[in-house]
Amino acid sequence: MTRRVLIAGNWKMNMLRADGEALATALASGVAPGVAADLLVCPPATLIASVAAKLSGSAVSVGGQDCHMNESGAHTGDIAAAMIKDLGAGYVIVGHSERRADHAESDETVKSKASAALAAALIPIICVGETEGERDAGKAESVVGSQLRGSIPETATEDTIVIAYEPVWAIGTGRTPTVDDIAAMHSHMRQVAGSVLGGSDNLRLLYGGSVKPGNAMEILALRDVDGALVGGASLKAEDFLGIAAAAE
Ligand code: PEP
Repeated sequence: MTRRVLIAGNWKMNMLRADGEALATALASGVAPGVAADLLVCPPATLIASVAAKLSGSAVSVGGQDCHMNESGAHTGDIAAAMIKDLGAGYVIVGHSERRADHAESDETVKSKASAALAAALIPIICVGETEGERDAGKAESVVGSQLRGSIPETATEDTIVIAYEPVWAIGTGRTPTVDDIAAMHSHMRQVAGSVLGGSDNLRLLYGGSVKPGNAMEILALRDVDGALVGGASLKAEDFLGIAAAAE
């Protein structure tokens, strides 16, 4: 079993071209040679091509933040997975809690998007996570288990997808679950995803929610945590590379 750590940055709806290109350039020149993790940044769709150009030849790859479930057609404003791939991306985030909340995306929608990503030869990063109320009610594991069963497409294998556990209440708040809670959830996720996929020894499970250089090492040291999905701290090269360094 060799699961290579993945540190993925989600830039969300931030950065105009000059700032995005400057951040990409800083990452390309700052990444340590032989870094022990796969590094990925997911800029807004407007910047995928120019960021990919700046990162070309570096150890940092590029992904999208969302894709449409259809290959093409009358979907004004939407972007197909193949279009994201065409810009140089290798991954796409699907089912982020902000999309589940802001765009009412159901597990079924997320599953269709992940399926479209696979068909376009992109690796979908499928996000799941409970709300604070669900955790307080003792339902975190059942909610996440149900999201996993509903969001993983039939065409997926443990080698072709990544799953990110992002408790909604930890995103952008500076709060994180305890390491014991993260460990328990990731172990549960590996078991549930394994039953859906027919195996999960190779499946990469990321933790996301207020990851910073200061807490990355203890989180990444957990047996079933294979990387991090990073929001706020991915907008500064120093912080993002500091998290990557914690994967050593
Ligand atoms: C995210 O939105 O995916 C995220 C993890 O954000 P932050 O790191 O800012 O909590």
